[in-house]
Amino acid sequence: MRRSLHIKLVLIMVLLIVSLMVVVGAFLMNSVTGYYINDFYQQIADAFGQDNVDFVRNLQTVTEEGEDGAAMVREVLNAYAWVLGVDRRNRNFYVLDGTTGRCLGGSAPEPEGGLGVTPNISTALLGTPGFDSSVTADYMDAAIPITRGGQPYIVYILDSRETVRSLNGSMFSLIIEALVLGLVISVLLSFLLSKTMVNPLQRLTDGIEEVARGDFSRKLEVTSGDEIGQLTASFNAMARQLETNIAELEKAEQQRKDFVANVSHELRTPLTNIKSYAETLADGGDLPPEMRSRFLGVILNESDRMAHILQDLLTLSRFDSRRDELRLTRFPFAQVVDDTYQAIRMDAQNHAHRVELDLPGSLPEVRADRERIMQVMMNIISNAIKYTPDGGRIRISAGQAGDSVWMEVDDNGIGIPEGDRDRIFERFYRVDKARSRQSGGTGLGLSIAQEIMRRHEGKLYLVDKAEPGLTIRMELPLRGPREEAAHEE
Ligand code: ADP
Repeated sequence: MRRSLHIKLVLIMVLLIVSLMVVVGAFLMNSVTGYYINDFYQQIADAFGQDNVDFVRNLQTVTEEGEDGAAMVREVLNAYAWVLGVDRRNRNFYVLDGTTGRCLGGSAPEPEGGLGVTPNISTALLGTPGFDSSVTADYMDAAIPITRGGQPYIVYILDSRETVRSLNGSMFSLIIEALVLGLVISVLLSFLLSKTMVNPLQRLTDGIEEVARGDFSRKLEVTSGDEIGQLTASFNAMARQLETNIAELEKAEQQRKDFVANVSHELRTPLTNIKSYAETLADGGDLPPEMRSRFLGVILNESDRMAHILQDLLTLSRFDSRRDELRLTRFPFAQVVDDTYQAIRMDAQNHAHRVELDLPGSLPEVRADRERIMQVMMNIISNAIKYTPDGGRIRISAGQAGDSVWMEVDDNGIGIPEGDRDRIFERFYRVDKARSRQSGGTGLGLSIAQEIMRRHEGKLYLVDKAEPGLTIRMELPLRGPREEAAHEE
């Protein structure tokens, strides 16, 4: 990765510098040529302009008898050579015949092959000054027609553009030097840059490979606040999230396995009992009638237990797959507490329990599934009855706290050992399996109760207490669940 990114960086830098130099070079050289051409024509225009009347008058003075007009013009031009910028090397003047364009002499000998008739000379032959030059031509010239003593002449100034060419040449080699230097610097810089960019990327890649191998322990250090830093931070967050998700998945998988094992175990016990009692009944034809009816009673009991377990499992499964809708209605909370109390009184009396009911005069209405809420109450009160030795005390209290109502059931029974307190809401969890089974418990009651409360956006939890026994509390929001597969009635 390092290599390819580095090569890309070098390429980008080289392209950048080359294109910059080409643009700047072309622009500079073009400007210099343009400036030089403009300056040339400006100089000629100034020389023949109003500021130099002497020069123009001298050029056009009437030629005296016997004098060579062209030589006189040449003499004047020689005297004013500096005004025209004539250096006799790169720039020269010539005097041409105004009618034929033939060269009559100049500041230098006529070039080999003659001057030729340039567009400017043709213009001057027609009587108007020629001042045009193309940027691409390798020379520039100006041809000004004058008359001296009735005789037409053309003052022709020719510049070979050698000055601008050599200027452009040195500028070109300067640009090439700058280009080479720029390239060297850019290669060095790209090494540095690629180091700062590639190193964190390389670390990130290593981290990703480790995560791909399933190792989430490594946390990458965020060394900068730039995009790579943000990417590293996002990667760390993603790895943490992934780790949590996988842990949750593993936990769920373990719970599922435990659940299947528990269900099989719970169903196997009553089934084994039913089978052995049924076999005894089938084999022993001469069993006494009271024994026969006792066996039948056991078979019936065990079948009821199985039906009970299956009923609870079905309820949980409907909750899990959210197929079970809550039937929401408005009803007075105190009323349900009282109804439940009345329903369990008989059972409590059978166990010689003293049941105290502490219900405030008025409690608000709640929006909930009345039957389900009553199911929760029945479950926790009948647990208190079951897990308190006969002759115990059970206190049921209720009240309002803010936007919720609550009900608490407190007993002085066997309680729950400290280590089991967190687990009693788990499916099939029972502190004392024999006692639970004996009293017809499935170990699913509290899981169902907690699920019902959760779906009402309420809570069901154990309250800490110092005395022996157990206190369990349910809380229910008055407004009822907000987002719930529920239908109002
Ligand atoms: P079960 O059908 O066995 O009663 P629950 O889910 O209702 O199942 O309760 C789970 C376990 O919690 C019970 O087996 C019991 O060990 C414990 N438990 C529940 N309520 C009480 C209580 N009031 N006192 C002591 N233990 C309790």
